[in-house]
Amino acid sequence: MQTIMNAIGGVLTKSTSPRTQPVFNPATGEQSGILPLSTKAELDAAVAAAKLALPAWADMPPLRRTRFMFRFKQLLDENTDRIAKAISAEHGKTHADAVGEVQRGIEVVDFACGIAHLLKGEFSRHVGPGIDTHSDRQPVGVCAGITPFNFPAMVPLWMYPVAIACGNTFILKPSERDPSAVMIVFELFKQAGFPDGVLNVVHGDKEVVDAILTHPDIKAVSFVGSTPIAEYVYRTGTYHGKRVQALGGAKNHMIVMPDADMDKAADALMGAGYGSAGERCMAISVAVPVGEETANKLVETLAPRIRQLKIAPATDPEAEMGPLVTKQHQQKVLGYIDQGVKEGAELVVDGRGFKLQGYENGYFVGGTLFDRVTSDMTIYREEIFGPVLSVVRSPNYDHAVKLINQHEYGNGTAIFTRDGDAARSFADRIEVGMVGINVPIPVPVAYHSFGGWKRSLFGDHAIYGPEGVHFYTRLKTVTTRWPDGIKSGAVFTFPSTQH
Ligand code: NAD
Repeated sequence: MQTIMNAIGGVLTKSTSPRTQPVFNPATGEQSGILPLSTKAELDAAVAAAKLALPAWADMPPLRRTRFMFRFKQLLDENTDRIAKAISAEHGKTHADAVGEVQRGIEVVDFACGIAHLLKGEFSRHVGPGIDTHSDRQPVGVCAGITPFNFPAMVPLWMYPVAIACGNTFILKPSERDPSAVMIVFELFKQAGFPDGVLNVVHGDKEVVDAILTHPDIKAVSFVGSTPIAEYVYRTGTYHGKRVQALGGAKNHMIVMPDADMDKAADALMGAGYGSAGERCMAISVAVPVGEETANKLVETLAPRIRQLKIAPATDPEAEMGPLVTKQHQQKVLGYIDQGVKEGAELVVDGRGFKLQGYENGYFVGGTLFDRVTSDMTIYREEIFGPVLSVVRSPNYDHAVKLINQHEYGNGTAIFTRDGDAARSFADRIEVGMVGINVPIPVPVAYHSFGGWKRSLFGDHAIYGPEGVHFYTRLKTVTTRWPDGIKSGAVFTFPSTQH
């Protein structure tokens, strides 16, 4: 059984913490690893290493930093399959899905390779007599990232390649549930030749998170996870004077208009609702058909497809959906299904009691479909994060838009329609950060930025892309006058272009 190591100052280090947590293979329920729950002292050591590496790294010309990034990108490309296997073994998602995750992470490294262009700043000549002004963006210092279980490779890659390419050094605190992929990626990062201490990894739980949030030498914290923890991280980190971007949970709706191609809309809902067993922050968990006829057709089209879902461990190349991440999470999702039934939703496909021969101890839940869900039900209000799709029937388009706008979350949303007017009005009026028009999972590409609205994001900046560069840099503006432009005699009035 492998013991997961920390990475501090470029060295793989065994934690001395007496506290540990088991890591499981969710398809079999067997323990596969031991994760240390590191101490505050270990976090302090990582910060010291990152602080030591900072001056030389921040001073290195951006194009020299980029060369390390290119080597890292190449190594990630060459090792995609290996990283994907490690993800599947601890998260449970299918191999093809895990490969997709790694590729989307590599795209952020692609973006980071071109970051010098975004650090250039601006210059204005002759803003006053003999006076020029220039501004540029400089690194903030030691940064930290705290990441969730559902994209163990991609979400960390949303953060540190951008931070590091901007000249910062970084400490990563990955999810406790699937830590191995991060360590493979760290090994490749080291192989790419980055100086020691530029990236550090400290495993742990609340103790390490609190040490990050209160450490005076950490200047910026990126968080991705559930909303209650995102809010806590945002409040605590900003209270301690840090920049914080904290991305939280979601309840993503997809409107199906009466004119939509029903086959394509149902295909989209299958992938977006049940892909990765619904454990995506951009998963569609609520379908909103407009009109009774559309709703009847949608449920009739979806139900047989859900019953035919190929649910299997990631090692099965035919698998469309794997198990949930942990036994506790499986129990939580089953509890939500019970609750939906209790509150009066119509259970069309019941995923409870799903069993797979040979994998009886795996954390599987079958694809589940509820119809006639209403906005007061728990299964509508809360994020389930499992293979459970709710249909909320809407009498008309305006009602559907209002429903989405009233939800506390605003991460992603989609509309399926052939009507340009409806699509345009939707993009305009909807109070959600990432919108798909006939696109069910509108995750922005790496050179745009990712972020929700409302209680799906705390902070002012979305993550990666140009917003990521702004988050990990500080604006500096320099006003210059050379002796030729300086008149003799002191000036006591406030400087302005009038003088
Ligand atoms: P989580 O909130 O349980 O954990 C996220 C991180 O916070 C982990 O590193 C964990 O160790 C840490 N943490 C957990 N409890 C803590 C506590 N009490 N104090 C301090 N730190 C704590 O989230 P998860 O279950 O790993 O991931 C699923 C959640 O993440 C879902 O809500 C999903 O929507 C969300 N998510 C959001 C996005 C997004 O971009 N908005 C992306 C991926 C996942």
